Amino acid sequence: MNEQACLEFLARTRWEYGFRCPRCSYRWSWRLKLGLWECQKCGLQTSGTSGTLLQRSRRPLTDWFRAMWWAASQKNGCNAKSLQRLLGLRSYHVAWEWLHKIRQAMALADQELGSLKGLVEVGMAFIGDEKTAVGGRKALRNAKVFIAVGTIPVAHFNSGGCVRLQQVMDFSVETVTDFVFHNVDRHRSFVFTDSGEEYRLLRDKGFIHKVRRREEKPGEPGPTTLVLPHVQEIVDLLRRWLRTHRGAIRPNYLQRYLDEFAFHHNRRNSRDVDTIFYQLVEGITHCPPANSRPADAP
Ligand SMILES: [Zn+2]
Repeated sequence: MNEQACLEFLARTRWEYGFRCPRCSYRWSWRLKLGLWECQKCGLQTSGTSGTLLQRSRRPLTDWFRAMWWAASQKNGCNAKSLQRLLGLRSYHVAWEWLHKIRQAMALADQELGSLKGLVEVGMAFIGDEKTAVGGRKALRNAKVFIAVGTIPVAHFNSGGCVRLQQVMDFSVETVTDFVFHNVDRHRSFVFTDSGEEYRLLRDKGFIHKVRRREEKPGEPGPTTLVLPHVQEIVDLLRRWLRTHRGAIRPNYLQRYLDEFAFHHNRRNSRDVDTIFYQLVEGITHCPPANSRPADAP
């Protein structure tokens, strides 16, 4: 694929239903040279990359496509060093920024999957505590994360259910209600939680909410069965996965890593790298450039 073909592919992905002017939403355009389109109404000249995460990128689009293809196939997560080697980039920081843009595209691609439906477990966890510390001086400690996981297989990916993860400032009633509201389809789901007080507003918000209480195992004094086994499984997997980024994660960037974990987890049974790659391209063309650089990049 050459540069022109990449630009055409981006434009086709971005304007799946035909050209739409980013300024005035007009549908008709003139086709100019060099992958440019001009709006017939307001005269704005635009390309497949303007107004997206790839806007003003100085590197060839072919490099971006290689990076996205590589990221789509890295089920165990990506790291900037490998990307730097792959593309022969001089700067580690450039590779780091690229990866974060790709992680933003992953978050958008997951939003496209829609809200969780069916039987959904919702729970919360501390990530990066003493026992599972990630990194050294600036280690992530006790970051608060909400987890929602569908427990019925999702036909499209033939998987055991999708997961949603969100880093939050607190575990308050409002925050948990907001998280569930934005990630679970209240008309087509049953929400299972533990008996925590934080979940008390879910029923008022229209969810069918079932509380699972701890039960003692017959014949065993003391030990309890896990009330949210799917949530616990995700937390264990996530902690193990984050350890592969030892020393690299700061609390400010945790959400990006959660997005990457969820993206791969939700496609873990799919061998169709073409589709995963296409979803990444879609994500990157739908993500505005304003979000492309974290406030305190290294
Ligand atoms: Zn226009």
